Amino acid sequence: MSGKISLVGIGPGSHAHMTQRAREAIAEADVVVGYSTYIKLVADLLEGKEVIRKGMTEELDRAVNALDRAREGKKVALISSGDAGVYGMAGPTYEVLFQAGWTPESEITVEVVPGASAINACAALVGAPLTHDFCSISLSDLLTPWPVIARRLDAVAAADFVVALYNPKSGRRTQQIVQAQALFLRHRRPDTPVAVVKSAYRRRERIEFTTLATMSDCDIGMLTTVLIGNSHTFVQHGLMVTPRGYANKYDLDDGGSTRAGEKAGRSLSTGLLGWMDNLRADFADGTSVATLARQHRLPEDYVDMVLRTPVHAEPAPVEEVQE
Ligand code: SAH
Repeated sequence: MSGKISLVGIGPGSHAHMTQRAREAIAEADVVVGYSTYIKLVADLLEGKEVIRKGMTEELDRAVNALDRAREGKKVALISSGDAGVYGMAGPTYEVLFQAGWTPESEITVEVVPGASAINACAALVGAPLTHDFCSISLSDLLTPWPVIARRLDAVAAADFVVALYNPKSGRRTQQIVQAQALFLRHRRPDTPVAVVKSAYRRRERIEFTTLATMSDCDIGMLTTVLIGNSHTFVQHGLMVTPRGYANKYDLDDGGSTRAGEKAGRSLSTGLLGWMDNLRADFADGTSVATLARQHRLPEDYVDMVLRTPVHAEPAPVEEVQE
């Protein structure tokens, strides 16, 4: 009899947003391990099972526990909110398994069951804030030195990502969000839209729209995710929306009809190849590499490399697949 460990993401916290596979994995399990809050959320699935409720600071314990049970031939479900691989138990569990000499060929099977993470849940509730490049940063400095977090905040603020801040504030960690705000304000406009989402898809759900200038004054806690828009994100009719592109792709003023380029299924952005052509032309006209690098806000050695890249024949047009 070989055991199993399932790392089950149960989604944001409502039954309707849990996947079928997450339910099955919990139903299949002999032992269910998780924080008491999440155990409560799946209470209806637990009849006849051994349930191990753990506190907040016992992550490794939980993984070791799961391994011990799996070695006895039990099926163990470790439940995480959202996705188990996003600031969750999947990482620590694999680390414990590797340390114990486990390999994917071992007797014990491991399955990670994906779930909708807080970023997905919160984005859905506020509109469509993630339709362009985004990233997430956890403000928890319990296991990560603050300068590492601060450098990342600085970098993504400068790079104009839409950003989800996980673990923004707790009883003991109250200043991290203030620092994050200060770092963002060095690069972004004070009126950049921000959504503060608390307990998405749970009983005490609360959504607040604010701006970068005032976000740290909001009611933020352990179950809050903060979504910061990019320079093009806007709020309309109570919905936060980030446009798909930076190049003025949709012409909304002409009654919604598309432009020539878009009709052909092509972006109106000149893209990499068009940009390379222009770069070469400017260089041929006498603009220096240093000036071009400054104009495009790119490293000089990169611009230099592009200029040395041989010109390829124009590839045959391929329809871009976009949802
Ligand atoms: N594995 C989880 C994240 C765990 S870290 C996931 O994928 O969502 C815990 C942080 O997640 C919280 O501090 C909060 O920032 C965010 N979070 C989790 N559930 C949330 C919810 N229902 N609403 C808003 N934020 C949530």
